[in-house]
Amino acid sequence: MNKNETLEQFKWVDTHCHLQLTKDKIENLYLDNIEYLIIPGVDIESSLEARDVSLSLNKESYWSAGLHPHEADKFENLKETFDDLFNEADLIGETGLDYYRNLSTKRNQINSLKYHLDVANQLSKPVILHCRDSFSDMFDVLSEGDYKNPIILHSWTGGNRWTKKFIDLDVYFSISGIVTYDTAHDLHSAVGKIPTNRLLLETDIPYLAPKPHKGEVNKPSYIIYTAQKVSELLDVTLEELSSLTISNSNRLLSRTTNE
Ligand SMILES: [Zn+2]
Repeated sequence: MNKNETLEQFKWVDTHCHLQLTKDKIENLYLDNIEYLIIPGVDIESSLEARDVSLSLNKESYWSAGLHPHEADKFENLKETFDDLFNEADLIGETGLDYYRNLSTKRNQINSLKYHLDVANQLSKPVILHCRDSFSDMFDVLSEGDYKNPIILHSWTGGNRWTKKFIDLDVYFSISGIVTYDTAHDLHSAVGKIPTNRLLLETDIPYLAPKPHKGEVNKPSYIIYTAQKVSELLDVTLEELSSLTISNSNRLLSRTTNE
């Protein structure tokens, strides 16, 4: 099977795709291998752009409103504007904790995260979480809450130990292009432990381009490289992986199909 056949043959849900942040012209992006996509906001402006792109896109898509943990220091002042956006959005996020860059205080990051989680739970909407060097606090926040809505850990990078702990919280794990990097040993061994009904795929465009394009601007179509690596790690065919990740995405969005 040559690469082009693979690219066109199977469809993928890109569950984390910042189309509004790419410098590429959206109308020129190859989306034929995308079943549908989720466009997350990271602040007020990008959440509004996510909505506009989603409504104008010639492809089924969902959008989310949220404040990235980098910006969490500003959350208190933006709460009311976000409340309106949360009501309108398909999903909540991305929110989360980033103790790698620590651009906002830990306290503000946790407060903003909890607010997003509570609203998402009240509205019964899925929530998208960013978790970098913060597994322990993220685990505590999620286990202390009684969240009934679907929770997505985006661009999951945890190894065996944390993956096992988060599996007990019944969250979804979204795998990005990081899994294609040779250095991602911990993630490679953890991916096979994720229950197949909790597995998602994403690009996180414009960031995290997978291996053959590492360092370039990422594109939705490159999700195939991530899918190929995950299918090897799980020892399933691309066809099986395509169908199971599409049905997982449908379930978390309560998306009904005509089939
Ligand atoms: Zn993101």
